[in-house]
Parts: sequence; C-alpha cells; structure tokens
Amino acid sequence: MKKYYVHTFGCKVNQYESQLISEKFRNDNLEQVQKPDEADIIVFNSCTVTADADKECKYFLRKAAKLPNKPRIILTGCIVKNKNINIRNLFPNIEIITDKTKLFIENQKQTISGFDKRSRAFLKIQDGCNSFCSYCIVPHVRNTIWSKPENKVLLEIENLVKNGYSEIVLTGIHIGKYDGGLSNLVEKITRIPLDFRIRISSLELNEIDDKLIDLIKTNTEKICRHLHIPLQSGSNEILKQMNRKYSTKTFEEKINKIMRILPDLALTTDIITGFPGETEKHHKETCDFIKRILFARFHIFRYSDRQGTKASAFKNKVPTNEIKNRAKHLLEIDSVKRRDFLNKNVGTKRKAVKIGKDKALTDNYIIVKRQSEVWDAKYGIKNKLPVDEKRQSGIFEIEITGTSEI
Ligand code: SF4
Repeated sequence: MKKYYVHTFGCKVNQYESQLISEKFRNDNLEQVQKPDEADIIVFNSCTVTADADKECKYFLRKAAKLPNKPRIILTGCIVKNKNINIRNLFPNIEIITDKTKLFIENQKQTISGFDKRSRAFLKIQDGCNSFCSYCIVPHVRNTIWSKPENKVLLEIENLVKNGYSEIVLTGIHIGKYDGGLSNLVEKITRIPLDFRIRISSLELNEIDDKLIDLIKTNTEKICRHLHIPLQSGSNEILKQMNRKYSTKTFEEKINKIMRILPDLALTTDIITGFPGETEKHHKETCDFIKRILFARFHIFRYSDRQGTKASAFKNKVPTNEIKNRAKHLLEIDSVKRRDFLNKNVGTKRKAVKIGKDKALTDNYIIVKRQSEVWDAKYGIKNKLPVDEKRQSGIFEIEITGTSEI
C-alpha cells in the first residue's frame, strides 16, 4: 500500500482542502503517514500570504527534495498561483498542480467526513475574494468566487456532528460574501436538531448584519460568542491607503452596538503594522484606538511587501526595525487586553469543547486547562474541568475559577 503525507501551510481554508486531499487519497487506498520520510507521495499545500509563508514553504521543499527515499513531491496551493514567484524555476523536479481541485475533484461530494487529528472541524463554505485590499495578495491568487450550496453545507454539518465533531468552524476566504447571505445560512444551521455549535471565522465589519447579531444573541447553544473582525489599522489615512471600506468612526460605532447586544462576546481582530507611509503619528492613532475598543485579543501582522499588490509599489516603506518596534508595542497592548478579558471571565460558567488531552475551548474563545499542579502560562487560565471522561466529549460546562500569569 502506498503511503502519503500532507503538509499544510496557512489558513483554515487550506487545512480544510488538505483534508479533502487526504480523504481522496484514502479512498484511493493510500495510507497516511505522519513523517515525510516514510511517504511515497508528499503533498505540500502552500500559502503565500506573507514573505515568511513563502520562505517556510521553500525551506520544506528543499528538505523534501533531499529525502533519500525520493518520494513523489506535489506542490499545490497559493504559492503556485503567485505569478511573482517562479516556483517552477526554483524547484524544477517537483510536480506542480496549479488547480488544487484536481487533487480532490473525484470526491464528487466535495465534503469531508472528519478532520484528522483535530477535535473541531473546519468547514469551507466559500472561496475567493475580489475586494483587493491594497496589501493583500489573496485576490490575485484566489479570485474565483464560489459558495458551497446551502443543502451541502447543512448535510456536511450533520455528517460531521454524527461523526463526533461538536464544534464546526465556518471558514472561507471572505465568508461575508456567501451567496444567499451568511446570516440566512447561519439561521438554517441553527435549526439542525443535533447537539453541536458553530464558530464563525473572520468576517468583515460591513458584512455583519442585524440578523446575524440577533441570531448570535438568541442561539447561545448553537453559535459561539466569538467574532473575528479585522481592523488592520486605527488610522483613517492608512485605512484609506489600504482600500479598507470603513472609517474608525464606523468601526467603533458598529462594535459598540455589537458589544451592547452581546456583552460577553470575544471580539478578536487583525492589525497590520508598518504599512507603507505609516508614521509614528498613525501608529499612535492605532494604539489609542485599539485601547478604546473591547478587543479580547488581536493578531499582529508585520507588513511585508507582496509583489503585484498596489501597496508594494507605494513609497515611504517603513524600516524593518521600526516595524519590529511597533509590533512589540502592539503586543504589549494585546497582552493587557488578553488579561483584562480573562479576568472579566473569572467566575463565569461557559460551554466548552475538548481540544486536547487537558485543554478545552470555551464558546468565547478562551483556552482552559484542566486544574492541576501544572500551570499553562501560555494560555494562562485555570478552571474546573469535569474529570468524568464521559463528559469530556461533546459540549460541557466549565467554571472559570482564575487566571495565571501571562
Ligand atoms: S484582506 Fe481584503 S483583499 Fe485580502 S482576503 Fe481579506 S478582504 Fe480580501
């Protein structure tokens, strides 16, 4: 029996697609292995969102090319669609598959039945973006807009739940563009009469409608109290240069409204620091803005030029050292935000799903660790997880009793 190994880089959509590839290979009677040097076929499902993502992929390709057992190496994903990286020239002996669906198209259902090595399943409901934020390479490499038909989404959720997945994360490249409306889909999902919950992944501010907010409010069991709304900058001048479609004023007003309705929501976001032309004044505006907003935490991305995007041609690039300093400063604010959010949750009871031997994830995106002598400083929270094994599958209630140092 031939053996295969899949290495995934990047986002949840890529991880979902790797699962499709994996299920197709298993249907073809191939056996999955956990180490590349044991495989006859290696698939690299790549990402090109940042320069670091490119670097990482190339590093693994170089390593795989030196494996003594000479496996067949297949490269697919966003890096092969990036016209500014001539991956063929760099790796002439690697098989390149530009159209990833060729690796799973025979699986006519285009749905997965499980999610290897994970307790939560990601479910791709949408693909493609044509918003062309000036820094983003994604619309250049994933420009075909596609939505999974509603009936397929509902069926896939039912199957995943029946196969033991209690949390389904709705993912896509730009899920607010879901054909037929995301809130209409979510409403139908909440009517599935099974015990599970969904988490909505990254969503643009302007694509959150009143119906969705109301659904989150009224469906405490089925929809996680968590929204990830990318901000990117707290400076109006920079937002304009980024081609983002809101101002800080509209962002703040909408967030305040959402938080009034959903006070226990975990609100997370993305910030890009060091965008071309970002001055100390713009950076300060961002810092002041994010301090004001009730974020539970944020991801900080250091701006990196993506050739072919508008921003890569902008002048006034911020020096790398300066970007590093600004990122450090933002991290300090993030750590205060995280601590405040965790402290706010001490004494509350939340619904959680298991995500590892001793860890669980609450509906409001707190990773909790089973109470013991050992503290997990990274996640920084202690709690009372039920010890009864039976209660550790599915969704169960925990009480958050304290936080540790972060
Ligand atoms: S950042 Fe902008 S362009 Fe990039 S995927 Fe998101 S919405 Fe699309």
